[in-house]
Amino acid sequence: MAKIIVLMGAPGAGKGTQARLLQERLHLPQISTGDIFRSLKHSQTPLAQEVRDIMTRGHLVPDELTIRLVKERTAQDDCKDGYILDGFPRTPAQARSLEQLAEEQQNTIVAVLIDVPLELLEKRMTGRRNCPVCNEIYNIYFKPPRNDNVCDLHPDAELVQRADDNSETVRARLATYEQQTRPLIEFYETAGLLRTVDGTRDPEVIYQDIERNVK
Ligand code: AMP
Repeated sequence: MAKIIVLMGAPGAGKGTQARLLQERLHLPQISTGDIFRSLKHSQTPLAQEVRDIMTRGHLVPDELTIRLVKERTAQDDCKDGYILDGFPRTPAQARSLEQLAEEQQNTIVAVLIDVPLELLEKRMTGRRNCPVCNEIYNIYFKPPRNDNVCDLHPDAELVQRADDNSETVRARLATYEQQTRPLIEFYETAGLLRTVDGTRDPEVIYQDIERNVK
């Protein structure tokens, strides 16, 4: 049976960093609903505009749309040996739909909570910068690039900050997480599917811990 690895944790906990490492090393596709929504950035449709407004407010995109996108993406051929979910599910309705999806696809779910105390998260998010070419994630406080504001691997690429990583949106996103997503931890715990790793350590050490837990 193939596995669905669900990365859980607050925004800024390091889900994206770990999803990238898992993808590279376990050769499973990483599906980030946040990335899917961000890819609508240049689209001018009313739906794309609505998604952008929701993200700027730090709220959640409606379940129906989010679930449909995940269903479509995970039906693709590269997901047949399993996949990694980064940022999905975020609501009880999404978690229930994932249960159903796993059953239909005959996959098993393992949820990994990357646990980071609230007081660290705000700095992690406001300090975050990405390479626009390879998407490598840096942090001006915790993991600065070798040269100021350019990617180590792409010296011509100025790092960019996500539109929703400003202080105001960050606080709204953390509140959304507390209200809507944190209850899912109990859902997976009760189902016996939850593994918890300490997300305050070096990303490589966290990775080893996650790998051990999902094998
Ligand atoms: P992320 O990159 O995972 O932090 O997601 C960025 C933003 O995309 C979130 O603040 C939400 O507005 C939206 N988003 C991402 N994943 C979901 C989801 N599973 N359900 C609803 N909205 C989402």
